[in-house]
Amino acid sequence: MLDEYQNLQPIVYKILRNAAIKNKYSHAYLFETNGFYDSFNLIFSFVKTIFCPHSYTNKENCQGCQQCKVIESGNFPEIEIISPDGMWIKKEQLQKLQEEFNKKAIIGNKKIYIINGADKLNKQAANSILKFLEEPEEGIIAILITDNIYQVLETIRSRCQIIKLKEEKRNFKEETTPMRLPYFLGISEITDEDIEKYEKVINFINYYEKNQLNTIIYMQKLWHDYIKSKEDLLTAFDIMIFYYKDVLNYLTNCNLEIFVDNQKDIENIAIKNDLKTISKKLNIITEFKEKIKYNANTNLLMDKLIITLEGGI
Ligand SMILES: [Zn+2]
Repeated sequence: MLDEYQNLQPIVYKILRNAAIKNKYSHAYLFETNGFYDSFNLIFSFVKTIFCPHSYTNKENCQGCQQCKVIESGNFPEIEIISPDGMWIKKEQLQKLQEEFNKKAIIGNKKIYIINGADKLNKQAANSILKFLEEPEEGIIAILITDNIYQVLETIRSRCQIIKLKEEKRNFKEETTPMRLPYFLGISEITDEDIEKYEKVINFINYYEKNQLNTIIYMQKLWHDYIKSKEDLLTAFDIMIFYYKDVLNYLTNCNLEIFVDNQKDIENIAIKNDLKTISKKLNIITEFKEKIKYNANTNLLMDKLIITLEGGI
């Protein structure tokens, strides 16, 4: 439960625990995760605390009651979790949520909706939850989550109690690349199929670093055959960014953060590129990642990326 976070997140722990003890909650919380590796679990513990009949009663803690077990199983009817569908949280997702919340709670008298990726609410979608936030209904608690509070619309930010988690990085020791990656990608688990796809991205970068512009000729085989949906494309760009960041890490302190399994490849890239070139490449890839969102022809975009990385326009 929440007590697990007493030492890791003392300030936040105190705030949330106090609310639980007094049974006095804000109608809306906006959590800024700040890279804290266990943020979703912490927030979920808070949600359990709100519903659990044994939390902080007579100073006793819940030892895993039936209610908490149902919540953990994901079948608790009074909790709705919304995550971005692709790049954005869609208006339809929120409309469904609203319908759900027009019904009365079946169990107890509280309902909670969690919006994961509050920065992925565009104006139109945000408007539909503003009413919720402006005229809070008794018993409904909104929990919004973001990694960067300044990317959340001001109209939303100003209507929530802001809870900032302390940055806390996971301590990796002997973990392999596939074990490290999910943490950096912000996902809870990774399938073998995903790993295969990620390896293709790494192969692609390694190939490009050896063959530069010639890469364009083999783009179909190297990239398009594997990276198909826009979502895959965005993740592939994240992987590229992390990969080049690891080249930077190697150049600055001979340490790798994620791609420990690719040390030899990264060394080879580090030999051919200096710090300035890698930073430049990182900037270009980051810019192109933004372009994906607005660009229909991703095939053309990938060719352009290679040309731009090689100093062309
Ligand atoms: Zn419980």
